[in-house]
Parts: sequence; C-alpha cells; structure tokens
Amino acid sequence: MAETTKQVITIKLKLYAPTKAKQDMYQTLANRTTDFANRYLGVEKPMRPKTSADAKPYSEPLPSVVLCQAIRDIEAKKKAKEFKRLWPGFNNQNFRVEKETMQDGGAAWKVSFPTLEKRVGVPIQVEKYQVKYLELLLAGGAKQGTAQLVKCGKQWYTHLSITVWLDKDEREKKPAKYMGIDLGLIELAVASILGCTLFFSGAELAYIRRHYAKLRRKLQKKGAHRALKKLGNKEYRWITAMNHRISHRIVEFAKVHGVTVIRMEDLRGTRWTKSQRKERRRDAGRSLHSWAFFQLREFVGYKAKLAGIAMELVNPELTSLTCSRCGEVRTSRPAGRWYTCPRCGKIKHIDTNAADNIAQAISGLSEEKQVRLTQKKRKKQAA
Ligand SMILES: [Zn+2]
Repeated sequence: MAETTKQVITIKLKLYAPTKAKQDMYQTLANRTTDFANRYLGVEKPMRPKTSADAKPYSEPLPSVVLCQAIRDIEAKKKAKEFKRLWPGFNNQNFRVEKETMQDGGAAWKVSFPTLEKRVGVPIQVEKYQVKYLELLLAGGAKQGTAQLVKCGKQWYTHLSITVWLDKDEREKKPAKYMGIDLGLIELAVASILGCTLFFSGAELAYIRRHYAKLRRKLQKKGAHRALKKLGNKEYRWITAMNHRISHRIVEFAKVHGVTVIRMEDLRGTRWTKSQRKERRRDAGRSLHSWAFFQLREFVGYKAKLAGIAMELVNPELTSLTCSRCGEVRTSRPAGRWYTCPRCGKIKHIDTNAADNIAQAISGLSEEKQVRLTQKKRKKQAA
C-alpha cells in the first residue's frame, strides 16, 4: 500500500466581481466581528460568553455561526490583547463550495455562506492550481476545515482550509522546484530560482532604523517616555508594512515561476560550529535587524502556504563561501560584492550565490528539533 501523508493547506479564493452593496455588507460583517473580538477581550475570563446566545449582548447583529467561530478564533489566539482585524469565520457546516458545469464543458465555481441578511452564493475566481483541491473536496477526498472572509487590498477573498492526504509516491513524482532566499544588510532579501533573481535593497530599512534611532536618542535625552513608546510602535508598523510588501512580491515571483518549495535560512540556529560562527560575524549588524528578518520569514511562510508552496528551513553553514556552480569552498569571503570561484571561475553576485546555495540546501535542512517546532506551530495555526 502506498504511504500517505496528511497536509493542511489553505486555498485563497477570490470573490468574483462582488457588487458595491455586497462589498459593503462584507465590510460591515468584518467590522462587527472585529468589534465583538475586542469587546470579548475586555470581559474577565470566567465571564466570557461561551455560546452565540451568550455572546449576542456583546455584539451588533451577526449570524450565530460567525459569533461561534469568532469565539473559537479568539480563544485560539491566547496572547492577543487587541484585534486590529478579526475576519468573519465559518465552520465546515456553514461554508460550502459548489461547482456548476457549463454548457461549453467549463466549470463555474461558487461558495456560499451566511451573512447579515441571508445565505449568499458568490461566484469565485479559481486558479488552475486550485482546481484539483476543490475537485478533491467535492469528491470527498479532502476534509474541509474552517473558512474566513478576508479583504486583501481592495479584493475580497475566502480563505478555505482543507486537509488532504497525499500519496507519498505521487508527491515524489512531481518534480520539485526550489527558490532560495538570502537575507542580509546590503540586500535585504535576494530570492533566486537558478538563473532568475529578485533583489530587495536593504537601504530603505537601514535608513528607517537610523532615522528612528536618531529620534530615539533625542527623546531619551529629554526623558520623553511616552513619546518613545509611540515612536517604537511607529517604527514597528513601518517595518511590518515593508515586510508585507516584500513577502507578497517574493511569493508572487515564486508562483509565476512554478516554485514548489521556498527555502530560507534557519535564523534560530543557536548551536553554531566554530566555522559557522566565524561566518556569521560578517553579519554582526544583522542582529539589529533580526526581528525584522524573523517577521519577513514568517510572512513569506504564510503567504507561501496560502499559495500551496512549501517552506523549508536550511542550515546556513557555508552558504556564502561555497560556489553554487561547482561546490568549491573558499576559505575566506570575497572582498567585494562578487563571488569569484577559484576553481571554475564562476562570477556571481555574492547574495545570489548564497541564495542559490540555500535553494540547493548544500548544508542540509535545519535540525530536526527546529523543524518539529515549525510543524507544531503550523498545526496550531491550522487547528
Ligand atoms: Zn566554482
């Protein structure tokens, strides 16, 4: 018998041309769900409503199923102190995917879910790679999880989580295509799919960090603590927005090129070997940016997941010293921005070279312990 593995994936389905009235209704639904979440957080734990009937006094009118799901979603985010946004959610009994076969043999897809007025059926725009999952779902070969109504930019989507069982052999038959991403100071992120590279300069981030550091020093001298905290939040929001922008472009780039796995460095590595530590020193300044890097990796990870692309963390050892073409290892880092190989003569931008090595996972995937941690986290998100 073939070995199967279970995988939870999220499919992002674009609502097809919703009318202005419908968009307004979705917005109201989202606003009320968020308001409810924040009121709920304001209630002492033992007093919190457990059922939709109990929850009604804390909310403007919402469908019971949305209230129930909101309670579950809020409780799942134990650390949340405030919700900037909580999207309306639907459990598997209240959200349905439907397919209609057209006369010309094509298919029209629809989803339906309860709203403020009544249950609505909305046409969705299904991407090619999503069809097989939806077909599988309708055929009973996949288990439907929760769905969320989400606005992204100006578009409305439903994010549908489903559990699929993949045949191991079948999965291995599909050729994998890897993208490697190198993070650094000069180039903030370099995403490379052998022969095709996307650069994001680190200049913007460096400028913003310098700018805020200067303002911080000024305020510190004055002892203006509240202003300092405000400043910190502002910087945080600024970097978060930047990371959303970059991760979005990276994942779009991966989608366009049919990438199946994105590989990034394991930044968590604590048990570095001597040579690794020596190599890391080049990036002493990276620690300053470390949370920004972590966040960027998280964002790339979840956006990739939505696009059905896997994410793997690799051991970063030697990725900047090795020639990505012939595997020769230099003893010292090249002085400039170019990697020149003493053996095969290849000349490549050092960060592209590193990204290509990350894509090939030349030092292997990161330690088991860390991989397991990630899986645990993924499971938690999926639950
Ligand atoms: Zn070489």
